Amino acid sequence: MDNPYAEHGTKVVFIGFGGYHYDRVLAYQFLTVGHIYTVDKTVADRWHSDVFLIEALGIPFNSVLFSEIIQGSKKDRDHPLTYCDNFGILYMKTCIGVTKMTFAELLIKFPDEKSVVDHYVIIRYGEKVVCNHCGSTRVYQKHDRIKVFDCNDCHNTFSPFKGTIFEKSSTDLRKWMYAIHMFLNGKKGISGYQLQREIGVTYKTAWRILQQIHIAMGSTEPDSFVDTIIEIDETYVGGKPRKKNEDGNNQDKINKRGRGTKKTPVVGVIDRENKKIYAKVAMLNKDGQQLTGKQLLEILRKVCEIGSKNVVMTDEFKGYNMLDKENILHLSVDHQKMFSDGFIHTNNIESFWATLKRGGYGIYQHVSVKYLQRYVNEFCFRYNNRNTDMLDIVLKQAMF
Ligand SMILES: [Zn+2]
Repeated sequence: MDNPYAEHGTKVVFIGFGGYHYDRVLAYQFLTVGHIYTVDKTVADRWHSDVFLIEALGIPFNSVLFSEIIQGSKKDRDHPLTYCDNFGILYMKTCIGVTKMTFAELLIKFPDEKSVVDHYVIIRYGEKVVCNHCGSTRVYQKHDRIKVFDCNDCHNTFSPFKGTIFEKSSTDLRKWMYAIHMFLNGKKGISGYQLQREIGVTYKTAWRILQQIHIAMGSTEPDSFVDTIIEIDETYVGGKPRKKNEDGNNQDKINKRGRGTKKTPVVGVIDRENKKIYAKVAMLNKDGQQLTGKQLLEILRKVCEIGSKNVVMTDEFKGYNMLDKENILHLSVDHQKMFSDGFIHTNNIESFWATLKRGGYGIYQHVSVKYLQRYVNEFCFRYNNRNTDMLDIVLKQAMF
């Protein structure tokens, strides 16, 4: 009972009150008051604590909305962290009542600029900071300029922020942290106007910060998918059409798929077992064609290791026939005849497309093709890192 946080496998009941309004709005989308759920894990620090449930993997719920169920010995009943409801069921409070970080609370976590520098330095270098010029570890942070280090070997100075999204910014690092925090916690991200208001910068600065966060999110690709079940599929999203798309011949070629050609195709590859995704906007090739077998194969090869025992699931689109010429076990489902054939289906990637489109509607509907890949990257990032501290992952990926 020393640890007040619920561990993996703990049964909890959704009590549905407490927390902030948006905590409850999120929870009510997925959970029913009074129902019992199983904890995947609890992530907690001094300012907030989230419960992740096995029934709704990857979604952080404010822990104050839950109570832990205790089978109920007399000793447990007397414990200060337990209480009895009107029906005589004994609960244990999963966590001390704390909620998501506000700007004020973030300022407590990062009381000054130096605390952000220190946090970032640990993420970038680990225990030992090394000189950007000569690799020496005999380096010292300057007292008067906290973003600058001196090297005692080569006598150069360097910034730990060189080559990162923060390099050219004069905005306070604490405002950056809050911007990233808000961006990650907003279900649909955050607009430039919202950010401008929240952190008190110009719209131009807010817009630039958001672009840089997007860049960090898209700066890495998932590790290769090995010995697993892979689904590959394509979707069309509402990017503005490129000029070449208005060419009649190209339209005919694309129309063979019989889908909305005014939009832009995105191809996604998902590791069904490990729930990792990789998605790319499919640009026109030099002959003005899109979604050719070769192009699909190239995207697949980015994450599908050659020679591993992967099984690839697709729908009946004939672009995927190309896979049969490769050394790949390829199974396809005919959507005309049935939605899915047992384990031959592309349901995972299709549900990712649904999320992408729901999230994108409104904010991203009129995104130009140029920025479309960034938004696709954002959704992939959220999907691939849903069970981790995303703020630190963004910081890790902040280098160009
Ligand atoms: Zn040096």
